[in-house]
Amino acid sequence: MKFNKNLENIKTYEAGKPIELVVREFGIAPKDIVKLASNENPYGCSPKVQEAVVNIVKNMALYPDDSMTKLKTGLSSRFKVSDENVIIGSGSDQVIEFLVHAKADSNSKILINSVTFAMYEIYAKHVGAQIIRTSSQKHDLDEFYELYKKENPEIIFLCTPNNPTGDAIDSKDLFNFVSKIDTDTLVVVDGAYMEYAAAKDKSKEIVVSELIEKFSNVIYLGTFSKAYGLGGMRTGYGISNAKIIKELYKLRPPFNITTLSLEAASVALDDEEFVNKSITLNFEQMKRYEEFANKQKIDIIESYTNFVTLCLNSNQNSTEISNSLLQKGMIVRNLSGYGMNAIRVTVGTDEQNSRFFDLVSELL
Ligand SMILES: *Cc1c(COP(=O)(O)O)cnc(C)c1O
Repeated sequence: MKFNKNLENIKTYEAGKPIELVVREFGIAPKDIVKLASNENPYGCSPKVQEAVVNIVKNMALYPDDSMTKLKTGLSSRFKVSDENVIIGSGSDQVIEFLVHAKADSNSKILINSVTFAMYEIYAKHVGAQIIRTSSQKHDLDEFYELYKKENPEIIFLCTPNNPTGDAIDSKDLFNFVSKIDTDTLVVVDGAYMEYAAAKDKSKEIVVSELIEKFSNVIYLGTFSKAYGLGGMRTGYGISNAKIIKELYKLRPPFNITTLSLEAASVALDDEEFVNKSITLNFEQMKRYEEFANKQKIDIIESYTNFVTLCLNSNQNSTEISNSLLQKGMIVRNLSGYGMNAIRVTVGTDEQNSRFFDLVSELL
């Protein structure tokens, strides 16, 4: 059977191994497995979400509110924009899908950082667009600009803070960069970890209302999967000029967000105390990773997120180390597929991190 030619070049996305798979593959009891592989919030989500969701579960026969008014209003008042500037996706992943499909085709180029979120490339391949990568590991906006001039891409992705390296772009530099880009090029600012970056360093915070007021060709992406602890609810959003949002809506399947997810995200958004507490604990625990890396003489990239990237020495092998950890029930992300001899570890709870340090000390 013949399929769409574009699919030939697509490798199926490999998500962080789910706990269930490690249980089956290695026969380890679920309680002995620690998953620090997908940058989920180790403290769960707001307890208020659980209460709210229990009530929803009592009546799930009806389709969700497809206008998503409650969550949209929550987001637009949080970001000081209007409802027409917001689109909600099944994860911000889905918004990435919409925008690539809306803007690019097989004649397009898409400019991304050398090491960045894998889904940009996968969606680019859906439409047969060509991916252009920078050479530097951190976002180098001068290089981005050079390549923009040379290649004239349809879309530019800026991931700040960047996954899987954790570094972030200065807000001032980002605004300055976008001001030099032609309004026909769509600039995507993926802020999946922005809550963490903004708390650690104000100069990294992107003020979304200012961004979209100044620039008609930018879309900002956020998610409930990371700081809000709702990875299982698959809810993310895009904020942009109303004209862009209107185009993206043409690609949105009806009822793309479940009633449960809409309620969970709305309630989570209101509980700022929970998110702030998670962020404080995250950076407290991250210090332990910095100390650990120092002690083990491993490089650690300064992180503005809820994960750290440990760049191993040449006599250490990230594939071997992550496999050995897996056999012991510790799931981390091997970055060899990104051309890095490094592992990405989500900063967990005090206990989870201690376990990580113990296991890795044994291996090194
Ligand atoms: C996790 C992540 C997303 C998307 O998460 P969803 O769960 O689909 O909302 C987007 N971008 C980056 C960089 C991420 O790390």
